[in-house]
Amino acid sequence: MAKEPEAHLFCHRCGAVLKPGVGNFYIVRIEAFADPTPPNLTEADLAVDIDEAIDDILEEIRNTSEAELMDQVYRRLTIHLCGQCYAKWIENPAS
Ligand SMILES: [Zn+2]
Repeated sequence: MAKEPEAHLFCHRCGAVLKPGVGNFYIVRIEAFADPTPPNLTEADLAVDIDEAIDDILEEIRNTSEAELMDQVYRRLTIHLCGQCYAKWIENPAS
């Protein structure tokens, strides 16, 4: 009888096979938010034609999918890293 194929996890960086239960990998959860601070309006901003500005925004929204709009505001992802890659990544996570 054929053996059930095992679901493998792979290191997001080097592709090494990760084996649950052995303690050789890390799960990294990343949450990213757009800056929630309201924009600081200048007098020049307030001088623009509001109707035209709103039309521009509505046009942009019409041309963007819901998923894309969500992605611009909030992203959450989970990655798996082997012990070696994790050790390197955590020292410089923004690289
Ligand atoms: Zn790795």
